[in-house]
Amino acid sequence: MKVTVLAGGLGGSRFALALAETIGPSELTIVGNVGDDVEVLGLHVSPDLDTILYTLAGRLDESKGWGRVDESWHALEAVGELGGETWFRLGDRDLGLHLVRTHALRRGEPLSAVTARLARAFGLEPTLLPATDDRLRTWVETPAGDFPFQEWFVERQHRDEVDGVRFEGAQKASPAPGVLEALEQADLIAIAPSNPFVSIAPILAVPAIREAIERRRAPAVAVSPLIGGKTVRGPADRMLARLAGGTGPQQVADCYKDLIDALVIDEADAGQEAGIRTIVTRTLMSDAEGRRRVAEAVLETAGALR
Ligand code: GDP
Ligand code: CA
Repeated sequence: MKVTVLAGGLGGSRFALALAETIGPSELTIVGNVGDDVEVLGLHVSPDLDTILYTLAGRLDESKGWGRVDESWHALEAVGELGGETWFRLGDRDLGLHLVRTHALRRGEPLSAVTARLARAFGLEPTLLPATDDRLRTWVETPAGDFPFQEWFVERQHRDEVDGVRFEGAQKASPAPGVLEALEQADLIAIAPSNPFVSIAPILAVPAIREAIERRRAPAVAVSPLIGGKTVRGPADRMLARLAGGTGPQQVADCYKDLIDALVIDEADAGQEAGIRTIVTRTLMSDAEGRRRVAEAVLETAGALR
């Protein structure tokens, strides 16, 4: 059973781990969001790919939901002392990864090749692909102005309401090598319970990726990031309310119109109309049992659809 999953950071990585533990890691291909990527202190940071790398390697700081466990902050302290920018938190071990990635990119290696190398070095078995090797950046439009994603999310702590998002470079972006093949050869296409607007939409904004999913032969199943109309973490609930007009299964399903055949929702959201086949389970993946429950719901749904 080959599964290809579209994933952002926290919800994406938890669900990727859930699938890897359930179907076996070598059957899984993860297509990760790069709209969040940012240059910090001259280094190329790919927050969502890194959260996935760290999660699958058992090195994520789970209390924060980003960055590495067992982290120290000496480098950033020195940066602050010297008047450098410190708004984007990079720990010492995390910086090591960004040094290796940035060095390789400067030598001309595509992001997909560097990512594969990092994954190998961490001993990862699933295939982790960036959606594209081309430059694609998420911009957030707010009443206070338009901001590059991380300035809005981290520096301004996503306090501004969102009127819209746009993906600079997406129209001209090609899928990274392996992405279309993984979508075409999958027995199941899954969409993680990631933020639909700023984690999944940037992946779908690559025209050839969206088209490949629209013309899929395999079933496609998404997992809702909502539990009782609220997110586990982050601004997806506020964004759904403002941009989609509500915080229920219907609004999540609307984000994936023509792209999914079923939506897995939490018990706390059951009984609401979604305009699509829904499967109800408990969707919190804070432990192995929770992960298994969600992965099995998705796999069973896919089986029933085939
Ligand atoms: P980010 O890039 O780190 O912000 O992460 P994602 O976009 O991948 O994930 C953020 C979303 O994941 C939030 O909307 C959360 O509600 C959702 N999420 C995180 N953990 C879980 C979980 O265990 N279950 C479900 N259903 N959603 C989750
Ligand atoms: Ca992200």
